[in-house]
This record gives sequence, structure tokens and C-alpha cells, in this order.
Amino acid sequence: TDPAKRLSFQRYVSDGDLVIVYERHDNMKAIKVCESSVLQNRFGVFKHSDWIGKPFGSKVFSNKGGFVYLLAPTPELWTLVLSHRTQILYIADISFVIMYLEIVPGCLVLESGTGSGSLTTSLARAVAPSGHVYTFDFHEQRAASAREDFERTGLSSLVTVGVRDIQGEGFPNEFTGKADSVFLDLPQPWLAIPSVGKMLKQDGILCSFSPCIEQVQRSCETLRSNFTDIRTFEVLIRTYEVREVKMNRFQGNEGGSIESLPCKRRQRSNEEINGLENSSPPVVMARPSSEARGHTGYLTFARLKCVL
Ligand code: SAM
Repeated sequence: TDPAKRLSFQRYVSDGDLVIVYERHDNMKAIKVCESSVLQNRFGVFKHSDWIGKPFGSKVFSNKGGFVYLLAPTPELWTLVLSHRTQILYIADISFVIMYLEIVPGCLVLESGTGSGSLTTSLARAVAPSGHVYTFDFHEQRAASAREDFERTGLSSLVTVGVRDIQGEGFPNEFTGKADSVFLDLPQPWLAIPSVGKMLKQDGILCSFSPCIEQVQRSCETLRSNFTDIRTFEVLIRTYEVREVKMNRFQGNEGGSIESLPCKRRQRSNEEINGLENSSPPVVMARPSSEARGHTGYLTFARLKCVL
């Protein structure tokens, strides 16, 4: 598979493609298109043959007039539909990691553990078309499942999955001095940090993800001997449900305990307030979403000290 074609947005659905079938933002699944197959769900029966030749993003209809959207399997969507074999990184942390690790096309990136391959999928897109991600997990079955997933998503030419105890043995010596960046999602990252120091190019960057601050403190103590610019971040997202609500005479709202967005309500004259109150335009209101995720972990970044 040509990774550049796989990652392009200007694509049409072909037989054998992986598509993300979108019902709602919280109901999507990955399906391999097969000309002779059908998808059956509560909206009716969808023939895969009707999908072939349609651009990604198309709305497609069932025998009963129900519809779904066919989306391209971007890393962002893959993270939402992959089968969870471990805890995974989500897109807020992933995008932060890729930016602060300064990953660009052509980079050589080392990662451990692979887990469910959520981060790896985005790393692969970031290094494409000429770079490579070498990812290691000591759990054989998990490594095998991740390899199968990278075949399905068309990323196998950009990712190599190895089975190795990175805390015990470190990264393989063949990568010494070659890595642009290294990412660790391990229970005792401080055990792998000396090896990371050997693998990185001069000026290379490490990121370690840890859920607990005690793990962060221990990692930072180890980092101080060989690394500089040590910084820890926590990425927290707060999403809002936004909707329009009509205000009553006393400026209470009809929607219950939602906060008013500041400055959205325009200033009104007395005539407007007295005469037009009932026909006044709705006001935009927002409240924190009940689906918002909280703490995932701390991201510690550090740059290898230059040896002059
Ligand atoms: N970042 C991954 C993702 O986004 O899908 C999730 C990683 S998961 C939380 C941690 C992984 O580290 C597990 O799959 C586990 O098997 C692996 N692991 C734990 N100790 C390890 C070690 N010493 N060497 C290699 N892998 C290890």
C-alpha cells in the first residue's frame, strides 16, 4: 500500500478499503469494504457495493432510507474506534506529544510500550512518508495485535513492532545515536532513561507519559544527569454543550442551570425590552459536557544535553 495515498484526503472508497462508519459522534466503527458484503444495523441494510467509488465523507443510504457517513480512517478516528487492549493515549495528549517532540516527516522515532497502538498510529502519520517508527512492547500478543492493526490501517511500511523488555534491556543498540525522539509509556520509565540517552541524536527529545506524580518525580531525578529543558505538562480538556435558549421577562432561562456565555446578549433599548420581549432572539448558552474526560497523565519532556 502506498502510505502517501492512504493518508491523502482526496480519496474514493475502493473494494478492500478500511472505512469508519459514522452513525453519531459516539457511535462509529471500522469496517473493511467487501463488494459482496452488507452492513446491517438499526437503520436497515447497507450494501458495500453502493459505497465503492464514492468519495470519503459521503452520506450513504440503507434499503429503508436510513443513513450513515463513510469516513477515512485518520489517526484521530482510529483512536476512537480501535479495540482497547490497554489504556490508550487520546488525541489531546497525542497532538501535544507530536508538537513538543518536534516530529516532522523523515524522523526516526522510538516508542515503548506499544499498547493498543493509539499513539503509534499518529506517530506514523507524522513521520510519513520517509521516516519510521520503531515501537516495542514486551507482551507478545499485544505486539502481534498491533502489527495486524497497522496492516489494516495501511501503516505497516512506516511502523516496525518489536517484542522486548525495554525497562530491563533498553532499546536495541542498532539505534544508538539515531533517534530524533523517543516516547515512553511504561510503569517504571526511569529504568529505560539511561538507554534513551544513548539512542537519541544530539539535541534529541524524550517524552515520558505517567499517570502519577510520584512516577514523574522519580523520572525527573534520573533525567537530571543527562538531560536539560525538563518540563512536565498536564493536558486537560473542558468541552461545552452549546445551545440556543429563549430568555423570559426576568432574564431567567428555560434551560435550567446552564451558564450564559459572556457578551453574547446584545444591549437593548427600553422599547425593545417592553414591546418585543417575547420575540427576542434566542441567547447562546453553554454548560460543561458530561462526557468530558479528566486527568489522563503527565507528559514530561526533556532534551539530551549537547556534548561539545
Ligand atoms: N501508549 C499506548 C497507546 O496509546 O495505545 C498505550 C501503552 S500501555 C498503557 C503500556 C504498555 O507498556 C503495555 O502494552 C505493556 O505491555 C507495555 N510494557 C510494560 N512494561 C514494559 C516493558 N518493561 N517493556 C516493554 N513494554 C512494556
